[in-house]
Amino acid sequence: MNRPYNFSAGPAAIPAEVLETAAAEMLDWHGSGMGVMEMSHRGKEFIAIYEQAEADLRELLAVPAHFKILFMQGGGLAENAIVPLNLSRAATVDVVVTGSWSQKSQKEARKYASEVRVVASGEGSHFTTLPDPSTWQLSRGASYVHLCSNETIHGVEFHELPDLQALGSDAPLVIDFSSHVASRPVDWSRVGLAFGGAQKNLGPAGLTLVIVREDLLGHALPACPSAFDYKVVADNQSMFNTPPTWGIYMAGLTFQWLKRQKEGDATGIAAMERRNIAKAQLLYSYIDQSQLYLNKVAPNARSRMNIPFFLRDESRNDAFLAGAKERGLLQLKGHKSVGGMRASLYNAMPLAGVEALVSYMREFEQHQA
Ligand code: PMP
Repeated sequence: MNRPYNFSAGPAAIPAEVLETAAAEMLDWHGSGMGVMEMSHRGKEFIAIYEQAEADLRELLAVPAHFKILFMQGGGLAENAIVPLNLSRAATVDVVVTGSWSQKSQKEARKYASEVRVVASGEGSHFTTLPDPSTWQLSRGASYVHLCSNETIHGVEFHELPDLQALGSDAPLVIDFSSHVASRPVDWSRVGLAFGGAQKNLGPAGLTLVIVREDLLGHALPACPSAFDYKVVADNQSMFNTPPTWGIYMAGLTFQWLKRQKEGDATGIAAMERRNIAKAQLLYSYIDQSQLYLNKVAPNARSRMNIPFFLRDESRNDAFLAGAKERGLLQLKGHKSVGGMRASLYNAMPLAGVEALVSYMREFEQHQA
């Protein structure tokens, strides 16, 4: 089946092979007589799905043994509260503000921490640059440092995570990796906790992934709901409450798809990273030489996943989107807070999709002239 190319920022495209497997197994998973949505989360069938998904993710992302993988609900925004409820110890929280999502994180943390300090901000450049870690004013004794490693709206991405210890902070680093999880490897030696909603690169909305270092468990504030206490969730293998079973199953199929991916001699996440670099390079280099399109983000901060761009003649926006839709290039409209266009190039977007987009953009630009 020839599907259109879907550039949505999330919920986003899912690999066709994953959807086909899910469709084939919808009514009867592996001869059990049940669909996955109909199974008890405590039955042997679902436990097998869960254990496979966890093991595959651990292998793909090379998650060390002293980190727990939690499958939760609530999405990225709920984690903005759940993280300080678990980690803040009601003390100071440091936040690096690099766009809309970390801005929201710092506001939410204020409800739970005694103090939230914005230790660096990209606001002065309208979030088109990332503040250099050497300039961050880190607090002494902060309970954690939050950063959003890929800002989905502004299209800025940390291509290297900061080494907080080298910067003089003993605090664990918390990253919101919602919109680039599984697009590249993670340096776990620099991370205390990573969280992300599944609906961009892992599967359907409703599943939230949390990967947390074991020593950070067990410090929740008394007011923290039990279902959001990472230690309770970890001690119960993510089954203190009913987990998002369908999301875990779909993410599990996506992990198996990821394990099958190859680019040259690279497989899995390394293969995805190569492909994602090539996809992003193709689009940015076209935009940069164009007279019509513009991306304002500093080259070293540009996201591989979310590429916002503008038409210099904004009166052409609607025509651009309509023509794109006619050619099977969907959901290119930019976020309402910044306007313009945005192409999200998550793992499920093949290079051919970006080639089709660039060729349409070229055609549209030539018709302008
Ligand atoms: N963080 C980032 C980086 C995001 O892109 C999003 C959603 N676009 C969120 C948090 C919020 O996630 P949710 O809607 O799942 O709460």
